[in-house]
Amino acid sequence: MIQPERIRDLNDAAERGDGSYVLYWMQQAQRVGTNHALGLAIELANARGLPVVVAFGLMDDYPEANRRHYAFMLEGLAEVAAELRERSIRFVLRHGEPPRVALALAKEAAILVCDRGYLRHQVAWRRKVADEAGCRVVEVESDVVVPVETASDKAEYGARTIRPKIQRLRDDFLVGFTPEAVEHGSLDLDLESDFEALDPEAMLDRLKLDRSVDRVSRFKGGAGPARERLAAFIEEKLDGYADGRNEPVARQCSELSPYLHFGQISPLDLALAAKAAEGVDAEDRSGFLEELIVRRELSMNFVAFTQDYDSYAMLPGWARKTLGEHKRDKREHLYDEAALAAGETHDPYWNAAMREMRVSGYMHNYMRMYWGKKIIEWSKTPEDAFATTLALNNRWFLDGRDPASFANVGWLFGLHDRAWTERPVFGKIRYMNDRGLKRKFDIDAYVKWTETL
Ligand SMILES: Cc1cc2nc3c(=O)[nH]c(=O)nc-3n(C[C@H](O)[C@H](O)[C@H](O)COP(=O)(O)OP(=O)(O)OC[C@H]3O[C@@H](n4cnc5c(N)ncnc54)[C@H](O)[C@@H]3O)c2cc1C
Repeated sequence: MIQPERIRDLNDAAERGDGSYVLYWMQQAQRVGTNHALGLAIELANARGLPVVVAFGLMDDYPEANRRHYAFMLEGLAEVAAELRERSIRFVLRHGEPPRVALALAKEAAILVCDRGYLRHQVAWRRKVADEAGCRVVEVESDVVVPVETASDKAEYGARTIRPKIQRLRDDFLVGFTPEAVEHGSLDLDLESDFEALDPEAMLDRLKLDRSVDRVSRFKGGAGPARERLAAFIEEKLDGYADGRNEPVARQCSELSPYLHFGQISPLDLALAAKAAEGVDAEDRSGFLEELIVRRELSMNFVAFTQDYDSYAMLPGWARKTLGEHKRDKREHLYDEAALAAGETHDPYWNAAMREMRVSGYMHNYMRMYWGKKIIEWSKTPEDAFATTLALNNRWFLDGRDPASFANVGWLFGLHDRAWTERPVFGKIRYMNDRGLKRKFDIDAYVKWTETL
């Protein structure tokens, strides 16, 4: 069942009566399993006796993306192509800006279905497609458990205010989803692709990408690796998660954020697996659901309702005020973005965290907090710190460029947080130091581990 709250008409255009297929323009939800947008496209097509076509627009210069991100994504798209073929669905992979590719294929479509993305360019692309497609365009929200506007109609102050709203609705949306079988295959349709999706390496060579950040060996893209990670997490790490998740050495967390970012796995699959897991303490289960649903969907809420989500100006007034009052405080150390990216600071713990990020495209959550707080301490101004942190975050993390990137970088500067005791440089925003690392876990073991990456 696709809950009606997930579905939204993006224009008033009528269906194209002589359309040859229902088009699913895939962008955010890069998967076949538990994909409500694909599911709706199949339902609409079956009801009209039409086939379904899935299209993806692959551009060379996707905002802020580099070779690291592309390699991971293309591995996932190869799986999408194979799984669609098994379901007799044609996957058309074309070179070009996603809306342009979607609009070209929309000319023959009865209806165009798209998934939902929350970032500015994703919203603008869908607007353009809805305005120009000349047929009905329907958006389906499949990458959250509770649809964003169903949970709340405004930017929330923090986890504290969105939590009860999400919890009230959560169980209504924690429902598995299996799409109908396809009644009319589209493999025989005469629709050209520009790439062979099953060959990610060839695509990676052909695209004109930012090659300054290389791919990683720690994460292989795709729904298959995502499902394996999820199974291992539920089996081995969910029990004990509530305490273990704050321990970078134990790494007792799912490490599924890159897969969620690219839509290679649905958050619903993670939530349902956690809910069904046996022999797990209630505290561990609810701790995981808190991060996956409340924290993650607070990020979507923030981006959806905050026009300038990537600018310093969007920080809460109290945070900008207190940081402004401490702008001229003396900084003991100053590093620019290049020195930070190279991990060349006086702090071995910070350098180790940066190494985890640079080499493996990921960093443990606890170290992300420490990492970001130190950049505030080591930058000339809070505005510089904000810009540098966001740039590093989005450049090196596989899960960067996500609503969670903007919300969490904002959190470093007081977003979704409260005022703490006033101190130099930070003013009243939360501070962290290396004594906390030493007190809470074996930070030297973490440093050693990062050297093995
Ligand atoms: C400075 C800073 C920058 C961050 N940048 C990003 C980023 O670019 N992309 C990103 O996805 N997350 C980011 N996070 C949030 C969090 O650190 C990661 O989502 C988490 O570490 C991913 O590891 P995991 O998949 O093992 O998480 P798990 O502990 O297994 O949690 C499950 C899922 O819940 C979600 N989640 C967990 N914590 C948060 C959180 N604080 N906010 C939102 N969602 C959360 C993630 O989707 C995660 O995969 C950042 C946090 C900080 C403090």
